[in-house]
Amino acid sequence: MIIDLRSDTVTKPTKEMLEYMFQAEVGDEVYDEDPTIDELEEKAAQLFGKEAGLFCPSGTMTNQIAVKASTQPQQEVICHKYSHIYNYEGGGLFFNSGVSVKLVDGDGGRFTSAEVVNNINPDDVHYPETKLVTIENTANRGGGACYDIKEVEKISTACKENDLLLHLDGARIFNALVESGETASQYGGLCDSISICLSKGLGAPVGSVLLGTKEFIKKSNRIRKALGGGMRQAGYLAAAGVYALDHNIDRLKDDHGRAKKIGEMIKELSFAQNILPVYTNMIFFDMADGYSVEKFLEELAKHDIKADPMGPNQIRMVTHLDFNDDMLEELDKTLKSL
Ligand SMILES: *Cc1c(COP(=O)(O)O)cnc(C)c1O
Repeated sequence: MIIDLRSDTVTKPTKEMLEYMFQAEVGDEVYDEDPTIDELEEKAAQLFGKEAGLFCPSGTMTNQIAVKASTQPQQEVICHKYSHIYNYEGGGLFFNSGVSVKLVDGDGGRFTSAEVVNNINPDDVHYPETKLVTIENTANRGGGACYDIKEVEKISTACKENDLLLHLDGARIFNALVESGETASQYGGLCDSISICLSKGLGAPVGSVLLGTKEFIKKSNRIRKALGGGMRQAGYLAAAGVYALDHNIDRLKDDHGRAKKIGEMIKELSFAQNILPVYTNMIFFDMADGYSVEKFLEELAKHDIKADPMGPNQIRMVTHLDFNDDMLEELDKTLKSL
């Protein structure tokens, strides 16, 4: 039994999901002839109350397309200093969109509307023109922290008042929704564009959907093509996404429950410190002085347990569809034995 807590991207499709994928009706998507991709895009758009959706191979691509479709080169994007869009997308903001970035300190990977307003550049030729704000919910490097929808409302209002667009990197938006009881359409009403991932906690092997107005998605489709993301009979993959949206949202609560239990286990360890609050499905902690990340990971590996090193001193564990109660028990035993 391998216990893989590196990320919620490691899940493999279940037998039921695979069976659903096999029966998908497909066609050439670049000719707009794949009914299953249409079904997924419509389903996701409806859920969030958006006009249209665009199926893409990854969340990186949906984020990058959103920035490209929302900005011109030389403009500026406001995002959190820990944001995925800035840190973990291969420098794509600069490479794909030629934009400048204003990084916000914020708290737990989130920021406030006041911080947005404070970071808008004056109308002066010295400064790049601020055009887009991106928020991440849940915030990965913030420990899986969730936004308070009231703050998102204020951010959305601040964006409208200042003629800025608002993009939500919702790679884990469903984790935030099941935790807060908020609805997808609330976010749809507040954000101009939304990227959702099907391949994280929802358990699909591949795929993300970008959501927005019909016009925005038409523009995004052109960009997707130029990035090489026009896939052909990808309805087999989209079917996994349809299945995931139908079956795997509510069960994210189970992942959160197990993550909280792991958080409690870590608190008992003498060699762990600075444990972040467990908001959703992530556990972040530092090694205590004199203990190394490498050694800890080596010890875990001897018991077929994997975790993710985040920087020189921090560890991340993420719960997901393929992590069950037996594994939780095994992890508990192992941690106690170290
Ligand atoms: C995983 C992730 C993405 C997209 O990643 P891909 O691996 O390209 O699908 C985007 N934003 C956040 C916060 C993520 O965790």
